[in-house]
Amino acid sequence: MRIVLMGPPGAGKGTQARRLAESTGMKHLSTGDMLRSEVTTGSELGLLAKGFMDKGDLVPDSTIIAMIQGQLANPAGVLLDGFPRTVIQAESLDESLEVAGLPIDKIVHMSVDTEELVRRLSSRAVCKSCQTPYNLVSDAPSIEGVCDKCGSDVIVRDDDKPEAVMNRMKVYEELTAPVLNYYKTRADVIEIIATGTPDSVFEELTQAIETGN
Ligand SMILES: [Zn+2]
Repeated sequence: MRIVLMGPPGAGKGTQARRLAESTGMKHLSTGDMLRSEVTTGSELGLLAKGFMDKGDLVPDSTIIAMIQGQLANPAGVLLDGFPRTVIQAESLDESLEVAGLPIDKIVHMSVDTEELVRRLSSRAVCKSCQTPYNLVSDAPSIEGVCDKCGSDVIVRDDDKPEAVMNRMKVYEELTAPVLNYYKTRADVIEIIATGTPDSVFEELTQAIETGN
């Protein structure tokens, strides 16, 4: 089975995808994680990607497609997370899947209202030294701004600040929302309201994948 997991930043895609991969044995393909690991290992693809990333440019679709292509035929099935992000990426993914005879079985869209997303994302913080993640609402450090584990500063990343969060939402709406419309004419799109707890969302997700609604 090949599933594409879609949703705005902060919807909990990564968390749910990891759990789903664990419980079903499907291969979790997170293009963000894969890119970071290609760069770290210094592979040919990683070096190529790094050239774009260092300049702050988006890694080209062809590079990302090349990176995931070898994984799409995984017999345990694949779970795509963070890709496709644009209609052009969706089209090229369809092309390579068609060549391989491996169609997408399901698209799952996790939706959360914008206010809740902004609240979730802007409560994220992290230790700038040991990278321990915190949530300023539900899991704050015991002393404000000080890491429980190492005593360094706990900071809010630039891309989690309210202005950047609003910008990420805007980019999502502009580039990724059209991908949903693209898929609606081609595949089974399942809508999930992802406002509940991680456990309840996971339950809804597994049920939706099993039954198709
Ligand atoms: Zn720390």
